[in-house]
Amino acid sequence: MYKNSNTVIANEKIDHDKIAWARKIILELYNELPDYIKKGCGPFLAAIYDGNGRLIAKSANTVIHDKCSNNHAEINTIRMAEKALKNHDLSSQNASLFVTAEPCMMCLGGIMWSGIKNVYFGVTSNDVENITGFDEGIKPNWMSEFKKRGINVYGSIEPEIGKSILQNYVSQQHVIYKPKRNG
Ligand SMILES: [Zn+2]
Repeated sequence: MYKNSNTVIANEKIDHDKIAWARKIILELYNELPDYIKKGCGPFLAAIYDGNGRLIAKSANTVIHDKCSNNHAEINTIRMAEKALKNHDLSSQNASLFVTAEPCMMCLGGIMWSGIKNVYFGVTSNDVENITGFDEGIKPNWMSEFKKRGINVYGSIEPEIGKSILQNYVSQQHVIYKPKRNG
């Protein structure tokens, strides 16, 4: 695990050009996210860009709206990108997924199967769980596991802004959607 003097963590030697690009896109996503929340989306937004920096797909979390527990921002965006490119495998695109928070256990599986080559996220799962109570799942050493599969990951990009959006989501009493469990 690599770490820079800021908050950024990565599973490769830190590339400052990549961080600069990721910071720009993640700040845009943070900026747009409150409007999605107002429309009834969950508090997460993702976008996929191809290797030439062209936007392929963007989606928020639509679990409540679609009544589908799988419809996290990352999964929605992967589905849209594959449909747009008419291909179940995004590997030839050198695609990058940007998302406002660290992907959960389910989304890591979706990313792994999609052929995405680069992942950039904002708020860490620890912070998501502490602020919202969402259960992000079990993800042992996922960044090094992704590295083994040729997927580069940069995280904790401008996390303070992302955390404040999640804090607002909670204080505005939006739904913390999760299954009911005993014990
Ligand atoms: Zn997820």
